[in-house]
Amino acid sequence: MTDEVEIPEDHPRYQSLLTRHRIEEGVEKGITSKQGLIAEGRGESFDYLLGEGTLQSADAAERAAAARLLLAEHAVLSVNGNVAALVPGETVALAEATGADIEVNLFGRTEERMRAIADHLREHGATNVKGLAADARIPGLEHERGKVDEDGIYDADVVLVPLEDGDRAEALAEMGKTEIVIDLNPLSRSPRTAAIPIIDNIIRAVPNVTEHARDLADASRDELEAIVADFDRDAALDDAERAIRDV
Ligand code: ATP
Repeated sequence: MTDEVEIPEDHPRYQSLLTRHRIEEGVEKGITSKQGLIAEGRGESFDYLLGEGTLQSADAAERAAAARLLLAEHAVLSVNGNVAALVPGETVALAEATGADIEVNLFGRTEERMRAIADHLREHGATNVKGLAADARIPGLEHERGKVDEDGIYDADVVLVPLEDGDRAEALAEMGKTEIVIDLNPLSRSPRTAAIPIIDNIIRAVPNVTEHARDLADASRDELEAIVADFDRDAALDDAERAIRDV
């Protein structure tokens, strides 16, 4: 992380440069895959079009996500190589604020990368990282891509899946899980499948969901349910698409 301090915080593209540094480091540490690098480039272009800020509709989605995580019987935050590189400590903080589990779940699963990511999360304070047991399967996906933990994602009623690929997002929804997806592209299949799509950069979204969760810590179930019910997923997706088209 020594490189990070070399970017002055008032640099106009500070966040974008920081993101790139973290992803580069992720690749060097064996956390982020080459496909992850491509995903990052795609994300950056959408973030540029969205003005590199959180839309009001995304903030509403982030509040609804916090409420839904707090209402869950068993929430799991799914972590892939980009998530681990970009927001490791922030993911641990979100898990603590909502009582969720953390599970490593990779598109291109290798035991080496699974372990590198779990270690990286532990270095950032995670105490119980799931995903290594891989003793259950998501139906409808080929063997490697469907692997999950039986007492993790398989058992969860609510799953936060940032930067997920469309196939897996659809397969999880078919299992009846409530999905919260973070993705900068409002046209991508994953957010379109989600009960709560968050169209925002994960770097901004995860800390903001945590902040909302802390703010809602003493809210009643009725209040939390009302926040979730008031959230309009189609309006949020349309709003993000409009923001991009109106640039
Ligand atoms: P789909 O199969 O759902 O259509 P895709 O093929 O477009 O998805 P991938 O390339 O597998 O998606 O995943 C990358 C996705 O992650 C892209 O939609 C990209 O916008 C998004 N993304 C990349 N970086 C970030 C980030 N920092 N924050 C939020 N979303 C991001």
